[in-house]
Amino acid sequence: MSDHYDVIVIGSGAGGGTLTHALAPTGAKILLLERGGWLPREAENWSPAAVWAEGRYHNSGSWTDCTNSDSPNEFEPKQNYYVGGNTKFYGAILFRFRERDFEAIQHVDGVSPAWPISYADLEPWYTKAERLYRVHGQRGVDPDEPPATEDYPYPAISHEPRIAQLNDDLAAAGLHPFPLPNGILIDEDAPQFSACVRCATCDGFPCLVNGKADSQVICVEPALRYPNVTLRTGALVTRLETDPSGRTVNRVVVERDGAVETYSADVVVVAGGAINSAALLLASANDQHPDGLGNSSGVVGRHLMLHNNSSLIAFSKKPNPTKFQKTLGINDFYFGDGEWPYPLGAMQMLGKSDAVLVGFDVPDAADPADLARHSIDFWLTTEDLPLPGNRVTLGPDGGIQLSYTPTNLEAHQRLRERFMSLLDAMHCRPDVYENHSYAGGRLGIGGVAHQNGTIRFGTDPATSALDLDCKLHDVDNVYVADSSFFVSSTAVNPTLTIIANALRVAESIAQRLGRSTLGAQPAVPGLPVLTGAGT
Ligand SMILES: Cc1cc2nc3c(=O)[nH]c(=O)nc-3n(C[C@H](O)[C@H](O)[C@H](O)COP(=O)(O)OP(=O)(O)OC[C@H]3O[C@@H](n4cnc5c(N)ncnc54)[C@H](O)[C@@H]3O)c2cc1C
Ligand code: SF4
Repeated sequence: MSDHYDVIVIGSGAGGGTLTHALAPTGAKILLLERGGWLPREAENWSPAAVWAEGRYHNSGSWTDCTNSDSPNEFEPKQNYYVGGNTKFYGAILFRFRERDFEAIQHVDGVSPAWPISYADLEPWYTKAERLYRVHGQRGVDPDEPPATEDYPYPAISHEPRIAQLNDDLAAAGLHPFPLPNGILIDEDAPQFSACVRCATCDGFPCLVNGKADSQVICVEPALRYPNVTLRTGALVTRLETDPSGRTVNRVVVERDGAVETYSADVVVVAGGAINSAALLLASANDQHPDGLGNSSGVVGRHLMLHNNSSLIAFSKKPNPTKFQKTLGINDFYFGDGEWPYPLGAMQMLGKSDAVLVGFDVPDAADPADLARHSIDFWLTTEDLPLPGNRVTLGPDGGIQLSYTPTNLEAHQRLRERFMSLLDAMHCRPDVYENHSYAGGRLGIGGVAHQNGTIRFGTDPATSALDLDCKLHDVDNVYVADSSFFVSSTAVNPTLTIIANALRVAESIAQRLGRSTLGAQPAVPGLPVLTGAGT
């Protein structure tokens, strides 16, 4: 089968879904290729046992950790292939990067490089991204927040009582806790109309009632209402082929239902996630691109960043019956603690653990359900640095291999010590669980949820693969619209920046096609209406 489109988009997650949604109203003929299928809507969506213990939706197979070339290890990456990509499972915390994150910053293990664009360049796109993904938040309370031209489109989500107390306790300890910016379709003023029912299985789970602002709900489904947009699921793109000049991709090769299909388009957008996108370019090597498509710089696959992430469970003497816990953040230590000259990172609440989830961190708990009733769950993130040796490569069978040595571990340890120093203030005591006031630890290489940096953008084709529009320097019609373009990881969650940049790239592609995404009406008929304050 061969078919020609104006634009082919590979991957329907935060990057690809958003870009497709932005281009849909322009009338461009778009083909969205997604290797996964629709995520089934079923009661197990909200079952910790099904989702986390049995891995019911895990479908990304295994990759190989080649960090130690003498003893490669297979591991299961924590990511998912479905319409909507990993946003089907994400916690929907949608932060803007800090203004200084776009500048060079000295860290304990080296310099986090400056971006080739500034925060001000991205600010209008952040504003559009927050509107599109229905972000709830409050300006003026996050101590490191960047300037914004508009208020959040929806008010901050309220804390449940135990988290409100935590907020007060942390404030009394001299910190500046703030409501997390959260992309869920909740309407606390009119709960009878709210899509979100405020449950305990959000972060790491698909939303059974389509109340989460994920790429499927917010972007893919609305885009498919346009007759010019086609989605093919189960469509694994295996290779991009060029014309003899090597300057134009003229065939997109797909494996679907056991058969090979080929498609072509004026513009091809790669948005498979930072690791799969790099793997696809590497797998598309040919005579004109011997080291991988668009890889004359040699950077494709390199500078992989994952974040230093720890999941930590504090044990509160007072029970914590919170359901929706992801409402509080702490950024007081983001750029440092005033005592040590380097940035530490961010703290935020995790989804509430239950008897199943607490078992991952406390496998020997005598009564996991009781322990979970006393848990307050946190997520700590420290920036990691873009080392050229941290990279994606392909194995002899074409499988994905990662080499990854963490950086800034001392900063992460100091952030953990700051967390531990707050346990008393948070009324978390060692008498709840066998002399421990908390449990948990740092994620290993399987924790690829925040992957980024593998196809960096820049002005110099010798040191970057993408230009400032996220088009490959070496190829005239291939763009990248996921987190591959990052030049540093920062220490806040990546997805709002992916969305904002996808909107920016969509406008660049639209202009190239003689169209514009600006002023076009978003394709949102049928989405739940939020009556809460906002624009
Ligand atoms: C449990 C969890 C919680 C998270 N919480 C947060 C959070 O609170 N805040 C935040 O900012 N981020 C969070 N993230 C990260 C967030 O999900 C990602 O940053 C985001 O989804 C990345 O978007 P993307 O478009 O780059 O890739 P993805 O969302 O991964 O989408 C890529 C898509 O491309 C498809 N694909 C890949 N290769 C191919 C191919 N060769 N052919 C066809 N299709 C292909 C995949 O199936 C997938 O659907 C979380 C992630 C997880 C797993
Ligand atoms: S908290 Fe709301 S958005 Fe999240 S899974 Fe539950 S109902 Fe869905």
